[in-house]
Amino acid sequence: MEMNLAGKTALITGSSDGIGLAVARGLAAEGVAVLINGRHADKVDQACKSIGELATPAVGDVATVDGIAAVLKAVSEAGGVDILINNAGTGSNETIMEAPDEKWQDYWDLHVMAAVRLARGVVPYMEARGSGVVLNNASICAVQPLWYEPIYNVTKAALMMFSRTLATELVGKNIRVNCVNPGLVQTPDWENTARELTAESGGDWQGYLQNVANEHAPIKRFCTPAELADFFVFLCSDRASYSIGSTYFVDGGMKVTV
Ligand code: NDP
Repeated sequence: MEMNLAGKTALITGSSDGIGLAVARGLAAEGVAVLINGRHADKVDQACKSIGELATPAVGDVATVDGIAAVLKAVSEAGGVDILINNAGTGSNETIMEAPDEKWQDYWDLHVMAAVRLARGVVPYMEARGSGVVLNNASICAVQPLWYEPIYNVTKAALMMFSRTLATELVGKNIRVNCVNPGLVQTPDWENTARELTAESGGDWQGYLQNVANEHAPIKRFCTPAELADFFVFLCSDRASYSIGSTYFVDGGMKVTV
């Protein structure tokens, strides 16, 4: 299927590793110039090198106003973007009774305000070009919460609603906004967690991940980042031209309701 994406430019937040890096690779393979984001310049440079000449660094912490300004400077230097993918994020671990306000605020800034601030920053470029795409990477936890990460569940649910609402605001400008809710994706984040949790019991981190997949995903395996990236690339393309304001689950059957 021809994607007709060559010549476009995309900003993918949190793309120095994991899902974001896979999405950046997938878009670059279609001829899209990709702005690679993360908080650490060395990791971003390494990711850019692994992608090649279509990749440019856009270093900055998207959970902060200063970090957003640095990222938007890179966007401006690139002449704007056609595609914004709000992907930067991370899991949490707390109880509602014990988590302090500051932790709620930090995750709100990372999962919600980053998307709000970047939309304000990049939509004017899309309007000038006459079209655009915004994709928000939330999580299955936005609708099917995991008990140990309430702040993650709540802020990802907010990102999903932000996505739906922004879609309504921008549809008349020919800018399509959608949300993707992945299930289990085997990224360095998960692998590191599994290594830590099994360090004192023999180190079988792969066995740990298999047990997680067996418990939660009817397909009984994790998704690969590249497998998920294909879905993002399709949604970025005009092939998904009638997809607006939706949330798509890529979860191996993990969601238990319709
Ligand atoms: P990883 O931890 O593997 O990668 C996260 C990326 O985001 C890294 O490039 C990291 O670089 C960057 N990053 C983290 N915080 C910030 C920040 N404040 N500003 C800019 N960049 C940042 O995560 P995943 O690939 O697993 O997850 C990506 C997204 O997918 C997240 O939003 C996550 O919630 C979501 N998701 C993941 C699932 C999974 O199973 N893996 C399932 C469902 C959703 P650096 O640390 O150098 O800044």
